[in-house]
This record gives sequence, C-alpha cells and structure tokens, in this order.
Amino acid sequence: MIRKVEHIGIAVSDIHAANAVFAALLGQAPYKEETVESEHVLTSFFRVGETKIELLMATDPQSAIGKFLEKNREGIHHIAFDVDDIEAELRRLESLGFSLIHREAKPGADGKKIAFLHPKRTAGVLVELCQDR
Ligand code: ZN
Repeated sequence: MIRKVEHIGIAVSDIHAANAVFAALLGQAPYKEETVESEHVLTSFFRVGETKIELLMATDPQSAIGKFLEKNREGIHHIAFDVDDIEAELRRLESLGFSLIHREAKPGADGKKIAFLHPKRTAGVLVELCQDR
C-alpha cells in the first residue's frame, strides 16, 4: 500500500550551494548528508512535516543524476512514495502495466529499500517507491 509522499528528489549541480539555499528556505540545516556509492550520488535531506526534500548531486557524470543534468536544468527529479511492502507494490504495479526500472528493491539512501518506475507510464514523472529497511 502506498502511504504518503516520502520525499521529493531534486537534482542539483552544486550540493553545497543548494544546501545553503534550502537551509535558508526551510529555516533548518539538512539533517543528513550521505553518499550512495552504487548510484554515484551525494545526497542531503531536509524534513518538511511528514515528508522530506532530497537533494542529489552526481559524483560521476555517467551516473543517472549526471545524465539528467546533462539534458535538463537543476530541478525536480523524482517523487518518492512510502510503501509498507515494496515487493508487493512492485508486483501490483507491474500487473497493472506500469513499467519497472527495478524489478527488485535495492538499498537506497536514508535507510530505505527503493525501486523506480519508468516515467513513460506515469505522466513523465519518475516515481520511486521506498520502504524502511
Ligand atoms: Zn529519492
């Protein structure tokens, strides 16, 4: 079951500059910075009520975020939904015809298991499912 918007992911070219902007906007410093080696990204997280803002900077231009920033400006990259059972949600969404980028959940930032849906079936929006590990 999808329970809430867990976070909104924003691709940035300079995470230190973006941290300063979002810290001023939100009136708080990020509560976490974390490198996800498997994705070649440096992330930072801010809490906004029950949801979060995730800033993502590529540590390798060949990474997904690096390629996104080659084609697009900085901006919203994905929306992430909190789910109670990520494997069950992947099977449910696959049976409804959604296109899965990841057929199985994998480790993500902020202590989550994650998987992405292809934006071609979700109105151009890259959707992440995440579940607490
Ligand atoms: Zn995310």
